[in-house]
Amino acid sequence: MIRFDRVVKRFGDNVVLRDLSFSTEAGEFVTLIGPSGSGKTTILRLLMTLERVNGGMIEVGGEPLSHMKKNGKLVPADEKHLRKVRRRIGMVFQQFNLFPNMKVLQNITEAPMRVLGKSRDEAEDKARSLLEMVGLTDKVDAHPSQLSGGQQQRVAIARALAMEPDVLLLDEVTSALDPELVAGVLGVLREIASTTDITFLCVTHEMQFARDVSDRVMMFDSGRIIEDGHPEKLFTDPSHARTREFLQAVL
Ligand code: ADP
Repeated sequence: MIRFDRVVKRFGDNVVLRDLSFSTEAGEFVTLIGPSGSGKTTILRLLMTLERVNGGMIEVGGEPLSHMKKNGKLVPADEKHLRKVRRRIGMVFQQFNLFPNMKVLQNITEAPMRVLGKSRDEAEDKARSLLEMVGLTDKVDAHPSQLSGGQQQRVAIARALAMEPDVLLLDEVTSALDPELVAGVLGVLREIASTTDITFLCVTHEMQFARDVSDRVMMFDSGRIIEDGHPEKLFTDPSHARTREFLQAVL
C-alpha cells in the first residue's frame, strides 16, 4: 500500500532520510518509533506531500506520489495528480485542528460533500455512524470548544475516516491530551484498526499501545530503519543495542 524506494530527504546540509526503503501491506498497522529528530514525522509529511523527496520515490496504492505518467514518460507530478493520490490518505495530528466555528457534524460532513461530492443526506448518515463508532453520538450539535481534548481528537478521527482513506497517518495523536483522556482515544483507534482494512502509519510515544495494536514496529535512528519486526520481538528482545537503549529510556 505504501512503498518508499531509496528515499532521500535533506533540509539544507541535514540529511534527514538516507536511502530509506520499506513497504507496507494493505491493512497493516505499522508504528514508527525512535528518538526525536530521527525522521519519523518527515515520513508522514512526505506522504501528505507537505514535503518533496530529494531522491528515490514513494508510491501509495501503486501510484507514484512525486511523479506521474504522461505520454508514456514519468514526469514530475502536477497538482491534480497529487490531489488524487492525497485523497487516499487521511491524517490525524497532535493538535486536532477542527473547524472551531462549525458544529461537530459539519466538521465531519464538510470535506465529503465538497471534495467527494456526496449529498448532504449521505454525508450526514455516514458522519452519524462514525460518531457512533467513536462514542460521540450525543455531541452531534456541539461546537469543538464544548468538548474535551479527547472528544475533539475522536471527532478528528471520525473526520479523517469520513474521507474513506486507504491509509491513515497518525502523528502523536495523544501527545496534547490530559493523561486520563488518552485511553479513550487509543481504544477508538484500536477498534478501527481491528474492524477496517485501512493501513495505518503511526508515530507515537505510547509504547504499550504500539505493542498492543501494531502488526509491525519500525525503529528509526538518524533517518534509517535499524530494526523492523513484530512488536513482541522488538519490545521484549530487540536485536539492536540502540533499540534496547531507546526502550530503556522511554519505558
Ligand atoms: P522525528 O519526527 O523523528 O522527531 P522529524 O522528522 O521531525 O523527526 O525531524 C528530522 C530532522 O529533520 C530533524 O533534524 C529536524 O530538525 C529536521 N527538520 C524537519 N523538518 C524540517 C524543516 N521544515 N526544515 C528544516 N529542518 C527540518
